[in-house]
Amino acid sequence: MDTPLDEHAELLVREIARRWLQPAPDECLACYVWRMLEEFGCAGTLRFAAGFRDARMPRARALERRLQDAGGFCDCEVLYNTVREAVPFPDDARPVCRGVTPRTIQPCALWRTRRW
Ligand SMILES: [Zn+2]
Ligand SMILES: [Zn+2]
Repeated sequence: MDTPLDEHAELLVREIARRWLQPAPDECLACYVWRMLEEFGCAGTLRFAAGFRDARMPRARALERRLQDAGGFCDCEVLYNTVREAVPFPDDARPVCRGVTPRTIQPCALWRTRRW
């Protein structure tokens, strides 16, 4: 009796985690990376930027190189070095992503890119 229920619970947790870790359907790369960094912090890698790419545009293999060329060698550097706020954000409030079309790595209207 226990096992099927356990398995069901585990599947459910995995499914919730998968959805939570996925970019929202119209969420942009910069807002997604920001949201993930707030939850998990930077690991010194481009794991969230790469995760965004894998979820949205798995064929955009050059993404990491483009971000690195712009000074983004890890997820937090993507935010610090490759984009800036189009209009300064209010303190301690993260604006909601303005949304982008599904097949773009360009950030939404909240951001200006520096070089990508
Ligand atoms: Zn970092
Ligand atoms: Zn956005």
